[in-house]
Amino acid sequence: MFVNEREARKNIVDICKRIHERGWISSTDGNVSMKLGRDRILTTPSGIHKGFMTESDLVVTDMKGKLLSGSRKPSSELMMHITCYEQRPEINAVVHAHPTLCIAFSLAGVTLAKCLLPEVVFTLGSIPTAGYSTPTTNEVPKSIETLIQDYDGVILERHGSLTVGKTIFEAYNTLERMEHVAEITHKARQLGEVHPLNEEQMNKLMDVSKQLGLPQKKINTECNGCNVCPEGGMNLPTPQPLQPSVSSCSSGNQDAKLIELVTKEVLKELQKG
Ligand SMILES: [Zn+2]
Repeated sequence: MFVNEREARKNIVDICKRIHERGWISSTDGNVSMKLGRDRILTTPSGIHKGFMTESDLVVTDMKGKLLSGSRKPSSELMMHITCYEQRPEINAVVHAHPTLCIAFSLAGVTLAKCLLPEVVFTLGSIPTAGYSTPTTNEVPKSIETLIQDYDGVILERHGSLTVGKTIFEAYNTLERMEHVAEITHKARQLGEVHPLNEEQMNKLMDVSKQLGLPQKKINTECNGCNVCPEGGMNLPTPQPLQPSVSSCSSGNQDAKLIELVTKEVLKELQKG
């Protein structure tokens, strides 16, 4: 069911203000759209501050991005929204923002695709990262084309977030959840090593999710959907205890010390990632 245009205009302005207030877009960043009909999209125009935008600033286009009404130019990222609508016929809203911590994780090469929090497993499955693409070019829609078929929320490497929903509120909720996960993960990593839920815990969660009749989300236990980190992602290797030196001579001790030093340095580097 499509929302009527008057309500849709109000919803987009409200959501943009909220995203701006949370600090997940600055200045003219971000873009939001809603489907008004099978071939009509209401969207934010390009080059406008989303915190000060009004309902009359929005523009209507067709599903190819051609302007149908409005005095401004449609957003330069509209093709990314259109790709989402093409890949997911059941969704009616797309939200693209620049949430600080989600972007920071992609810059640091740390995946959020690991299953860390039960509620995320229930609601989103995993949070994959789409590989880097040049903003405003057709590389962007290409980079999310496949991922958006399976996930409601995707991180765009070095760029931002892309979330979709049957309603604009669903798409916004997913953005809020993603940034919240990033915030929790960031804090946890400052305190120590972060370990994903184990297989047994995941299996139990999946059983509960089925019993509750929740929509079954795609889970990425092997980090396959992440393009930003080397394999393993957040799964830092467990430090191996050093083998005691076979010989007790001084050179043997020096070797062991050297190995210990190198191991420490390597682990330090890995933990930075
Ligand atoms: Zn952007």
